[in-house]
Amino acid sequence: MKNLAAALEELQEDHQWRSRNLLSSAQQIEPVINGHKVLSFCSNDYLGLACEPRIVERYVEAAKTFGVGSGASHLITGHHACHHALEEELAEFLGCERTLLFSTGYMANLGLVGALAGRTTTVFEDRLNHASLIDAALLARAQLKRYDHLAVDALHRQLRASVGKDGLIATDGVFSMDGTVAPIEALQKLSDSFNVPLIVDDAHGIGVLGEEGKGCTESCRRDDTILVGTLGKAFGVFGAFVAGPGDIIEWCVQRARSYIYTTALPPSVAEAARTALALIREEPGRRAQLLEQVAYFRQCAREAGLPVTSSKTPIQPVILGASKTALEASQGLLEDGILVQAIREPTVPKHQARLRVTLCATHTREHIDRLIESLARNCTRTGEDSS
Ligand SMILES: *Cc1c(COP(=O)(O)O)cnc(C)c1O
Repeated sequence: MKNLAAALEELQEDHQWRSRNLLSSAQQIEPVINGHKVLSFCSNDYLGLACEPRIVERYVEAAKTFGVGSGASHLITGHHACHHALEEELAEFLGCERTLLFSTGYMANLGLVGALAGRTTTVFEDRLNHASLIDAALLARAQLKRYDHLAVDALHRQLRASVGKDGLIATDGVFSMDGTVAPIEALQKLSDSFNVPLIVDDAHGIGVLGEEGKGCTESCRRDDTILVGTLGKAFGVFGAFVAGPGDIIEWCVQRARSYIYTTALPPSVAEAARTALALIREEPGRRAQLLEQVAYFRQCAREAGLPVTSSKTPIQPVILGASKTALEASQGLLEDGILVQAIREPTVPKHQARLRVTLCATHTREHIDRLIESLARNCTRTGEDSS
């Protein structure tokens, strides 16, 4: 085994050290972190549902009725009517045949890819896919082929080179560190021409993008596109699901190890998620407000001369370059009472360390004004230096 003490020291020297912020309030726009109230631009609670009273109330009520623990895995005695109803409502919402609940998005990807791919499968993935999709291919012992971010041409070449072999394409819908959106229709075309199934992990898109909040595939929904969604982001709850054709879902029930060999979500969590889904459907104003804040942020950031990217989603990276630069900027913002996470390698490629701003429907223009002012003061672009 490697010398951990030395390895840890090296992380510190390389500005790669990770430390946890200690949250002592609810997950809200102005949480108490490390004992101080801050203005946060770091949560995935895009619609402000994590503390929504109607969801909390339903959660408490369900816990009183059904208890806290589910007590077993789905295939033993853990599959509750609450889970079943949520699966049916999600399928109806997304317009697909069936959905299957998993405990987390990470597990959904491991389970789904593991069920569909094996040693003889080539899994084609965007280079910037979420770690769980990469890990899923590795765990399945599949051959992993990564193509450059959003590079449909490169994927086309890779598919052509492996015609006739068993394959699978997997992509993030909204990329979690860049806020970019996958070219879904082009991927669907390739999926058709090469007869290779397509998985879209839309963890950051479902509830957020599309007129009705169905995510980045809303306008190009197709039965054979397999979707993965999480309940821990826009839904403000916890858990995840796979959505797709009935036979794929049934195969996951039979074969997805991260579905079979784990305790089912508490029924109360499923009830909370059902309430969140109802609000996502009934209150489109939350989504409209979120997109308005995104547009406002981008406009102000551009005016302030900040290096904004082309992302139009609530994930707004400010790319600074060196890890040290990003860390120092994040520290400067914190001194102004504003929390924005610095993202470094290995989460993003080397020399692309960044501040990752995430916007929520519950942010106000005043919040964003404060953020811009502090960003302008703390982000002097010195991105090309070492480390
Ligand atoms: C957050 C995220 C996941 C993991 O979902 P959890 O429910 O938090 O485990 C998977 N894929 C993508 C693209 C994500 O952004």
